[in-house]
Amino acid sequence: MTIEKIRLSVGSASVLDLGALPQFKNPSTTCYVMTFTEGHCIANCGFCPQARSSRSSIEKLSRVTWPIFFFKDFLTKLKYMPFSKKFKRICIQTLNYPENFDDLIEIITQIRIHTNIPISVAIPPFLKEQLKELKIKGVERVGIALDGATSEVFEKIKGSKIGGPYTWEEHFQKLNEALEIFSPGFVSTHIIIGLEETEKQVIELIEELYNLGIIVSMFAFTPIKGTKFENIPQPAILSFRKLQLGRFLIFNNKRKLKDFTFNTRGQIININISKKDLNMIINDTNAFLTSGCPGCNRPYYTSKPSGPIYNYPRTLTEKEKMEIFELIHTFIN
Ligand code: SF4
Repeated sequence: MTIEKIRLSVGSASVLDLGALPQFKNPSTTCYVMTFTEGHCIANCGFCPQARSSRSSIEKLSRVTWPIFFFKDFLTKLKYMPFSKKFKRICIQTLNYPENFDDLIEIITQIRIHTNIPISVAIPPFLKEQLKELKIKGVERVGIALDGATSEVFEKIKGSKIGGPYTWEEHFQKLNEALEIFSPGFVSTHIIIGLEETEKQVIELIEELYNLGIIVSMFAFTPIKGTKFENIPQPAILSFRKLQLGRFLIFNNKRKLKDFTFNTRGQIININISKKDLNMIINDTNAFLTSGCPGCNRPYYTSKPSGPIYNYPRTLTEKEKMEIFELIHTFIN
């Protein structure tokens, strides 16, 4: 085994009981692993503590801390986890550095020897042959993050305008190649809300991705000290709730762009569902939970434990359901 170290989200490490770590009220249901490299990622995403020119701690991804562990210790804990604590999924975040693909393959291979928990990988755009190899090695799902909701936003947050290596076109091409290899429903992408895009542009992109068979997860932009975007505020909770509802309606209730009415600033001013439907959706709670692969809850990833909570890592309380209804019911027929 050539891999010596990996990083784990502190919440995942706590579930695995890997040392004296805080216990969390909402434990991770997915085990979040990150490839380890000395120094920063070679990409330069403006929101990311791992970025090349970030002055943040490289212990972080979003607002979560990722301590370093010996890979063999992680594998042992994973193998002997009690059934009651068993993760529903393992998700490997792959930084961009020269040996990242080889490291990822070894991590997957070793995990597969120790457990049959489904594996997802969050990757930079790899070659098609590499995507095929990931599938052969036992990866169930693959995520390639667009992050920006439009090509203009993409350029500013992770493309040429910020000194990043990525292009919108290549990301889309890789998402399409991943679809050929992993099938519709097994490929996902992220959109970060709150980076100059309009609500209309987000709904348009969600519909386009839904039609392709790509799962969409949404995160609220989260400013992290030391990143290029440290002074940008988080999005308004009202806007995020409308978009969570919109994403849910497109993916689960056969709604289309035409079911949304926008003002001239691209804000949603009406959604074509009844108040009864809204009540049912809020009661069901899924629309407002962390979206992505099955079993992913990412507690505290973009929200402080004290709130506001953008993506809930657990079902809503009655009080939270009422707050969401009060916030968005005026946008419903
Ligand atoms: S590729 Fe991923 S880890 Fe690297 S800077 Fe961009 S978001 Fe951060």
